[in-house]
Amino acid sequence: MLQLLNSDNLSDKQTALQLLGINNDEQLELLEKEFHSRFEDKIELLEKIEASISQIEIGLYGTCAKCDENIEQSILNQHPYAQYCQSCQSEDTH
Ligand SMILES: [Zn+2]
Repeated sequence: MLQLLNSDNLSDKQTALQLLGINNDEQLELLEKEFHSRFEDKIELLEKIEASISQIEIGLYGTCAKCDENIEQSILNQHPYAQYCQSCQSEDTH
């Protein structure tokens, strides 16, 4: 049973949850939670990439979302989806 629950295979997991007597709504909720935590980093990255794409579309790519200054080229080389310039980024992390 535990093996099934820890399985990466979705239908195995659903089977295990069903055997535990958890109904469909609860199953969905559990699976959603797990998916979100498993892909949280990727979802965040995707959101940044999407933001960068819309910045390109409106001609604001490479502009800091906080202070409107140009984001340093070295940052953009490292993180093409960066939203903040160096000083705003370091303000954020402090
Ligand atoms: Zn800035």
